[in-house]
Amino acid sequence: MTKDRKLIIAGNWKMNKTVAEALDLVAGLKRELANVKEVDLVVCPPFTALGAVAQAVLDSNLRLGAQNMSEHNFGAFTGEICAGMLKEFSVRYVILGHSERRQYQKESDALIARKAAAAHAASLKPIVCVGETLAEREAGRMENVLETQVRGSLAGLSKTQMDETVIAYEPVWAIGTGKTATTQQAQEAHAFIRRVLAGLFDEAVARRVRIQYGGSVKPSNARELMSQPDVDGALVGGASLEERSFADIVKNSI
Ligand code: PEP
Repeated sequence: MTKDRKLIIAGNWKMNKTVAEALDLVAGLKRELANVKEVDLVVCPPFTALGAVAQAVLDSNLRLGAQNMSEHNFGAFTGEICAGMLKEFSVRYVILGHSERRQYQKESDALIARKAAAAHAASLKPIVCVGETLAEREAGRMENVLETQVRGSLAGLSKTQMDETVIAYEPVWAIGTGKTATTQQAQEAHAFIRRVLAGLFDEAVARRVRIQYGGSVKPSNARELMSQPDVDGALVGGASLEERSFADIVKNSI
């Protein structure tokens, strides 16, 4: 399958994996995926495993991502981690505005936009998550919600910064539920997000930005999802915790 945009598949390990378990998983992924060049591969361990995983991926095609960061660069923000600290571990990507953070930490689009700006200032590539809830979809508000989130979460970013930004469309009702959006639902949402990007920036930017799908991606549905014209990769939760399933998602996507 050929697409202008290179696929990017990222594993969001969430609050899972001790350092020892993380190293075990990375060793397996390195074995399984050593020859993959067609896809940008990213693993996003918890903060506590970043240092160890950073060393382990040095000689590999796996890139390191974090799951969150502060909008601030330093100071009295107990429990927070800033971009500069992530850079110390050669982190390249940072997931921002995951629906779990929007829900449990009440992260707003405006906060996510400030974090995205801070990430770019440190040359980290944000993976900005957007997605509607089931209630919003059933009320016919999907497009409205996505447009608000895309515009709000990317507010203030330049066209150049957009080339270093990834968007993850993650319908909240499909995350960790086993319910995957149909390929048609995913494609429609991705195409809509691209139209919003064209309005917000321009057509060329919209064509270049990579939009991942996230929500119960597994080896059995990866190929069909990735074959959609506007789906440029996956943000994988549950199935990224195990070497076999993550490796098979990648292999089935190529
Ligand atoms: C996620 O949390 O980003 C995610 C997509 O989770 P899962 O694959 O488990 O649905």
